[in-house]
Amino acid sequence: MLKRASIGLMSLALAVWITGCSEQESPAPEGSKGEATAPAADAKPATANGEIVVYSSRKEHLVKPLFDRFTEETGIELSYITDSDGPLLARLEAEGERTPADLLITVDAGNLWQAAKQGLLQPVESQVLEDNVPAQFQDPENRWFGLSVRARTIVYSTERVKPETLSTYENLSTGDWEGRLCLRTSKKVYNQSLVATLIERHGAERTQQIVEGWVDNLATDVFPNDTSLMEAIVAGQCDVGIVNTYYFGRLQKDNPHIPLALFWPNQQTSGVHVNISGAGVTAHAKHPKLALQLLEWLSEGEAQAMFAGLNMEYPVNPEVAVDPLVKTWGEFKADDLNVAVAGKRQVEAIKLMDRAGYR
Ligand code: FE
Repeated sequence: MLKRASIGLMSLALAVWITGCSEQESPAPEGSKGEATAPAADAKPATANGEIVVYSSRKEHLVKPLFDRFTEETGIELSYITDSDGPLLARLEAEGERTPADLLITVDAGNLWQAAKQGLLQPVESQVLEDNVPAQFQDPENRWFGLSVRARTIVYSTERVKPETLSTYENLSTGDWEGRLCLRTSKKVYNQSLVATLIERHGAERTQQIVEGWVDNLATDVFPNDTSLMEAIVAGQCDVGIVNTYYFGRLQKDNPHIPLALFWPNQQTSGVHVNISGAGVTAHAKHPKLALQLLEWLSEGEAQAMFAGLNMEYPVNPEVAVDPLVKTWGEFKADDLNVAVAGKRQVEAIKLMDRAGYR
């Protein structure tokens, strides 16, 4: 369903009803090509007054308030669809030059990197984006830019774990954590990106030892999502896990006394693994200038605070204040690798996890 961001305007019908998104708590339909292949001709052609079309794998409730605000402020009409990463990229690719999409918003640098590699995004020159988005969080070739930062960190039971016994991602592979670790499936891009950065830091051989150690320490089967993993810790199935910070935030919001806490690992070494959600102007955008205007708008001021705050993430723009609840988790040293590593080493990471028996 192609939807209007501005309230009161009728939604436009597409041949295929598209639902879901990568930010939902279900495993991404890996490579599910063929789902969302409504021909581009079904989408309303862009209007003369410059309507922008956005494809977003970020959930509707996280982007719609921003789109409405953008239209209010600029008078530029905006339509969008939301879907999971796989189908959305497949759709863009299938539509090719006929795509109505001007801007792609998606999560994880691994996905943005893939989109760029498939030729679905175009490079842009923007001093605004260079100023607002740290170099670490943008494509070295300027085809995508981070808009929010999430940390993938250690979560532990405050009832059974003393935080001083925790130290690094690597340490979770030692005998100290035998039968005490929970992990999400290796099929999720978030874990692929984490392992990709470990390969970048340690090389494949050492990383495989680490991942094998994790697998040896597993208390139970891998989980389909971060939330069920944390619920297992609360239930006593395991004591520690690795999750994205905003999923912890959601549980904490519902239950402020949940017996879980975040731990910032690798503070003496590489820093906490961080990743982004972000966006890029599509290769065949009909309104590349307006798409860039929207992208720049999202990178600063209140839009930045909203983009991050709505999902309890960190604004990518260091000038923008962090959400009050997120702030209570404390400051940490983050890994300073360019997040593009997540994409570059994704295939290697997937193969390594497979060899290590991480399902
Ligand atoms: Fe997520």
